[in-house]
Amino acid sequence: MESIWKSGVPPFPYTQNTPLPRRAEVAVVGGGMSGILTALFLKERGIDCIVLEAGEVGGGQSGNTTAKITCQHGLRYAALEKKKGASAARVWAECCLGAIDAYEALAEKYRIACDFERLPAMLYTRRQEEKLEEEAAAARRCGIRAELRRRTELPFDILLALSYPAQAQFHPLRFLWGIAKQVKVWAGCRVCEVKGHTLTTEDGEEVEAQKIVWASHYPPENFPGLYFSRLHQSRSYAIALSGAQTLGAMYYGIDEGALSLRSYRDSLILVGGAHRTGIDHAPPFAALRDAAKKYYPGARVTAEWSAQDVMSGDGLPLAGTFSSLTPDRYLATGYSKWGMTGAMLAAQIIASDICGERHPAAPICSPARFGLSELRATAQESAHAVRGLGRRLLHIPAETAEELSPGMAGVVFYKGEKRGAYRDEAGNLHTLRPYCTHLGCELNWNPDTLTWDCPCHGSRFSPDGVPLDTPATSHLSTCCLHTGRNAAQAPNEPSRKDEQP
Ligand SMILES: Cc1cc2nc3c(=O)[nH]c(=O)nc-3n(C[C@H](O)[C@H](O)[C@H](O)COP(=O)(O)OP(=O)(O)OC[C@H]3O[C@@H](n4cnc5c(N)ncnc54)[C@H](O)[C@@H]3O)c2cc1C
Repeated sequence: MESIWKSGVPPFPYTQNTPLPRRAEVAVVGGGMSGILTALFLKERGIDCIVLEAGEVGGGQSGNTTAKITCQHGLRYAALEKKKGASAARVWAECCLGAIDAYEALAEKYRIACDFERLPAMLYTRRQEEKLEEEAAAARRCGIRAELRRRTELPFDILLALSYPAQAQFHPLRFLWGIAKQVKVWAGCRVCEVKGHTLTTEDGEEVEAQKIVWASHYPPENFPGLYFSRLHQSRSYAIALSGAQTLGAMYYGIDEGALSLRSYRDSLILVGGAHRTGIDHAPPFAALRDAAKKYYPGARVTAEWSAQDVMSGDGLPLAGTFSSLTPDRYLATGYSKWGMTGAMLAAQIIASDICGERHPAAPICSPARFGLSELRATAQESAHAVRGLGRRLLHIPAETAEELSPGMAGVVFYKGEKRGAYRDEAGNLHTLRPYCTHLGCELNWNPDTLTWDCPCHGSRFSPDGVPLDTPATSHLSTCCLHTGRNAAQAPNEPSRKDEQP
């Protein structure tokens, strides 16, 4: 299940081959688009900055994105004008248009062959004409050359489309790797703890940094900031097709269940199936394959993958000082599925702040903002967390491990205790304690990604309990791996790690 960007391309092997330094002016946690761009802007300003990446550069969401670089983020500007005012909406549009230019300039400056191309971005609807008209008017007030259209090249009828010219798309990993070569990255270096100015890695190494930037997608630190009460994660699914008509624009449907589409060279990418991470959902890949069959008969599926993003209360990034209690820590998150322009702006905002400058989008993206949307999000997130924790106490599994056939998993009874159990295709049974190492919510099995997903804040784990997505940073407590087709009664083995809450 590799993305079109990763398939057939060996992982970026780049990592510093010197030991981790004991000191740095700035330490950035996370080598995705946010972290690498932040490090580049700091380096360009002469600041000694290091990046600590748990896995590989671009191994997180940035290697699984659709990589549209646009100021068109679904229905954005009408809502922004209402919630934040006309002036903030205009600043946001200008900054996003500037972010597109910044990608183009960096690709040129560092001669990165990343298939960067300018083309229109289109919103389309089959039902909500007035919404698009309202958005078009708001976008124009914000200085965007928005045009309404009755026809598109899409293979289905639409009621109305809204086109923004001169947006962009690219190959995100080729771009990211081109930039990563310019900065100092230690890959395979997971940060497990930050205390004061000291970062401690999984291997027990310590780095003292004057400033620390959390660019790890969802911040694992709970206090101060309480971001766990304001952010959740949403997962989406993508397929790539060969033999389908390619597109001269990027498309995003505003109706419930509508597809997002873009081309890459002679492939077509379809994206859909969004749901809150960790909750039950309809099979998304089957729906995407059905759509492909219907609209592009004869096309062949060449890649399938999924990814998730951190959703903020008002749909805008959280980029800036982590909290007033920790003025030397920064945060870059909450892109709400628009993290290409979002990461560029977050990197600019944070680098400017560290250098004593003020970016125009800083107040809009300030993590300290707390309006009505944040208040609503906090209430919803708290309810989800209570439900997730409640399941831990109240959910009584209906099945036992013995009943799981190959390829199946679930929270079951095993030896009189509640366990997460997955029987792989070879019949081996993998069991673990199904409680998230972030705040302890009960996990759910996602059959589409073969992972244990947390409904509270979106942490994900492999069948063997390895943390795949933040905020969790430590392994699940595994119980045992029993080999053999009908394995279920093997003796208990000691747990690999026992940091389970
Ligand atoms: C399906 C999908 C499609 C999307 N399409 C678009 C699009 O077309 N346009 C757009 O603008 N946005 C899009 N987005 C959003 C965008 O992809 C993301 O917002 C963006 O990639 C996030 O970048 P990031 O650097 O914050 O996170 P990541 O790329 O996930 O990087 C975070 C890095 O931090 C590392 N890390 C985590 N914890 C630690 C730790 N403790 N120590 C060290 N390292 C750590 C991870 O390994 C990871 O590499 C899409 C999102 C999804 C889900």
